[in-house]
Formats: sequence, structure tokens, C-alpha cells
Amino acid sequence: MAKTTKTVFVCNECGCESAKWMGKCPACNSWNTFVEQKIDKITENGVKKLKTRNEPKLLNSYKGQDVSRTSTGFGELDRVLGGGLVKGSLILLGGEPGIGKSTLILELCDKIKGEGKVLYVSGEESAEQIKLRADRLKIHNDDILFLGETDIGVINEQIEEITPKLVIIDSIQTMYSDELSSAARKCKPSKRNNSSDYENM
Ligand SMILES: [Zn+2]
Repeated sequence: MAKTTKTVFVCNECGCESAKWMGKCPACNSWNTFVEQKIDKITENGVKKLKTRNEPKLLNSYKGQDVSRTSTGFGELDRVLGGGLVKGSLILLGGEPGIGKSTLILELCDKIKGEGKVLYVSGEESAEQIKLRADRLKIHNDDILFLGETDIGVINEQIEEITPKLVIIDSIQTMYSDELSSAARKCKPSKRNNSSDYENM
């Protein structure tokens, strides 16, 4: 199998893809948000390999089942999440800097103790800064592991090794992947107005 690299341009704001660079995003009307990304495509004899085809089935042929949820220990947060954390789900926590995202997350890490290991990955703050916050919140939990890292590949390896119950990425825009040529650090300065005021978790 041969590996070919395809270049696409992706809008930093809304994720809209285009084969060529554009000054203005046709989807969200943002200016200068297109960044180049290289995607590796696995091909066989130059033909893109198709995966096994998934066929549609009658919705009525399925049995309705609610997912099991883990309480965050915060009534209000559980309510926002629809009843608690769902296994395998990804939650994006946004909000203005200083609003208390990292504090809330640290308290959450503590509240779900006994459920398994929690991996706290920080791309911004040091272990000492986070420990200081934990001390202030009187959190002394042996289930919380800290990893100061921004390389998604390394984080993935650690997740596979530790198999934590919960992974915190603080914050997502500080992360980068070798598989994408436009690293988070590279697109950050081109981020516009309000979006740069937000830190995502
Ligand atoms: Zn856009």
C-alpha cells in the first residue's frame, strides 16, 4: 500500500474544507482563517481503499437504550450534561479566561475518585501551578496523574498505557499532531477577535 499526501485547506473557525486557499470562508464568512493541512491517504495502486460498506437499517428494527452515565458530583453540571458523563464521550468546555474552567475541572477530577485513574494533560500550566490550585481546593487525590504535554501522539500512547477513566486536555488549542502540518501553535496568531479570548477544554 502506498501512502500519498493530500493537501487541503481548513477554516480555523468552523472547520470548513476546501481544495484551494480562500481569503474568506464561504461557510462562516471569517477572513484569513484558512490554513493548510496535509492528510496522509492510504492508497492501493493509486486507488483509495474503501472500507466495508455500512448499510442503512430501519430505525424501528433497533431497541431503544439509554446510555449509562457517571455523576460528576455536581448537580448543575450533571444537568447540563444530560445526567452525567457518558463513557467514550468527548465534552468541550468553553468560557472566558479566568472564569474557572480549570478549577471546575480539577474539582471534577476529585469528585469522580474511586472510579479509576484521571489523566490531567496540560499544555499551558506546569504541574506546580496545578498542584498549587489543588492545594487551594484541598484536593489530595492519588488517582490524578499529571502530564505536561502538547503532542497528541505522546498523549495517545500514555492513554493506552494508563487506560484512565477520564482524560482532561487543558486546553485543546495548545495541542498539536505530527499528522497535521498546521499545528495549534501555528494557527494561534491568526485566530480572530472573540475566539482568541476563549480557552477550550
Ligand atoms: Zn469558516
